[in-house]
Amino acid sequence: MSEIEKVHCLIIGSGPAGYTAAIYASRANLKPVLYQGLQPGGQLTITTEVENYPGYPNGIMGPQMMVDFEQQAQRMGADIRWGMATKVDFSKHPYKVEIDEEKWIQADSVIIATGASAKWLGLESEQRLNGYGVSACAVCDGFFFKNQEVAIVGAGDTACEEALYLSKLCTNVHMLVRRSEMRASKVMQERVLKTPNIKVYWNSETLEVLGDKKVDSIKILNHATKEEIVVPVKAFFVAIGHQPNSALFNGILDMDDQGYLITKPGSSKTNIEGVFACGDVQDKIYRQAVTAAGSGCMAALDAERYLGEKGLH
Ligand code: NDP
Repeated sequence: MSEIEKVHCLIIGSGPAGYTAAIYASRANLKPVLYQGLQPGGQLTITTEVENYPGYPNGIMGPQMMVDFEQQAQRMGADIRWGMATKVDFSKHPYKVEIDEEKWIQADSVIIATGASAKWLGLESEQRLNGYGVSACAVCDGFFFKNQEVAIVGAGDTACEEALYLSKLCTNVHMLVRRSEMRASKVMQERVLKTPNIKVYWNSETLEVLGDKKVDSIKILNHATKEEIVVPVKAFFVAIGHQPNSALFNGILDMDDQGYLITKPGSSKTNIEGVFACGDVQDKIYRQAVTAAGSGCMAALDAERYLGEKGLH
């Protein structure tokens, strides 16, 4: 093996948690190296306006906010790199992390900020037509279906937000809700229900996405009436929540039954000393940019303290 690169503080992931950890770790002179992962900037890069992040009185577009975070981390001296962690070896300290299946980094401390990803229904047709009308991001792909009929599945705040977004672009939005009520906050539900071109289908399950090379309709079953219908649509958006990106740590780090990493209460500490977790990969409750950023700060401070105690910094 060629000589292994050694770093004090390795950060995996580049959403608000990872970048904030990088800002704090840089300022503490930990010389952090951050690998951005498959989707630099994370989930905020596939959203529109963020109105609830303090410090932006007029709101900010999600992708721009992530550019701002990245630039701030860079200005503080963080070494931000393209690349994805593909394997970890936390069996002995210093830890080792493989990048892009080709090189290993040796790290005195590791901060995990790998976030969460969209969930899918699991239909064969959904997978087959992914990218051909099936999408998990209305904000990214809605534009391609301007002035057309589209469907969206889900009943949380994300589904409501995306349905409203689509209603401004598309002729009609068919919203499929599997129960007789929505999980979304009242204010979002009201906005959806007041929008004339959003039609809500209660108690409805998507049986299949139809279309040969691209989506042309969806087959829905209404569980209350047992009626099956086919609705012509050009796109099918899936907005049914997210799963934590923690597969890399299976069997290595403690996680709950949904795969969220478990951190010690009031800290970012995992079950392995010197390995910290922050952001959505360890938070299934709040999942906000600002809470992710806050936990990124905690992780960097915890890493700094750990390195200090170990005499490594
Ligand atoms: P949620 O987990 O809140 O909601 C997921 C929705 O998808 C639920 O309505 C669920 O139905 C439905 N669902 C799950 N699996 C299926 C399935 N197989 N078929 C059909 N429907 C399914 O996820 P969100 O992404 O909406 O939100 C995540 C978090 O982020 C929440 O805390 C939310 O409040 C927050 N958020 C806040 C926003 C804001 O404040 N502006 C914007 C977006 C998100 P069921 O209810 O039956 O379980």
